[in-house]
Amino acid sequence: ETVNLNEFFNYILDRFDMMLKTDNESAGADNNQVEPLNTTPHKQYTIRREITKRDLWVEIDQDKFMQVIDNIMNNAIKYSPDGGIITARLLETHNHVILSIQDQGLGIPRQDISKVFDRFYRVDKARSRKQGGTGLGLAISKEVVEALGGRIWVDSREGKGSTFYISLPYQPIDEGGDWDEA
Ligand code: ATP
Ligand code: MG
Repeated sequence: ETVNLNEFFNYILDRFDMMLKTDNESAGADNNQVEPLNTTPHKQYTIRREITKRDLWVEIDQDKFMQVIDNIMNNAIKYSPDGGIITARLLETHNHVILSIQDQGLGIPRQDISKVFDRFYRVDKARSRKQGGTGLGLAISKEVVEALGGRIWVDSREGKGSTFYISLPYQPIDEGGDWDEA
């Protein structure tokens, strides 16, 4: 389906902002209230958005693409200390849209960077075990993105943080404005 990636990305990020809200509300709940099912204290984080105001119409499967973004966002939260800042960006070039999610978390050691998109690969088994997960998230993300003719990659420094990038082919829609013909 044809989706406005600008609106869709903002919508996905709104859900992550909303998760924080529900957490804070249940933390302040009084004793009369029913205990929330999941009492695990969730991590705090701040999402900063640097997202183009322009409509970016792309051909994607919404459910699958949401899974991709959800995994990258969940990783950014999971592999960052409490209170981390996550920066979400969306911009267009002449024939691509580039979406990125940057965290200030653990980062990925140089020798593991090329492997994090492999099935079941998890950096430092001991470090990852307590976090839970199967090591499939990024492998699936890569499949989904490449099926759309796009690319996914990461730039990371251990102890500094990681930035995951997704680029998708993009043809700006001619909005019928006139321009000078040289
Ligand atoms: P799953 O997504 O299946 O629940 P997972 O998060 O461990 O499990 P992936 O999302 O595929 O699996 O990530 C693979 C590994 O890459 C992770 O186990 C982690 O070691 C590393 N990794 C992924 N994202 C980050 C990040 N933002 N910061 C640091 N390490 C990361
Ligand atoms: Mg994951």
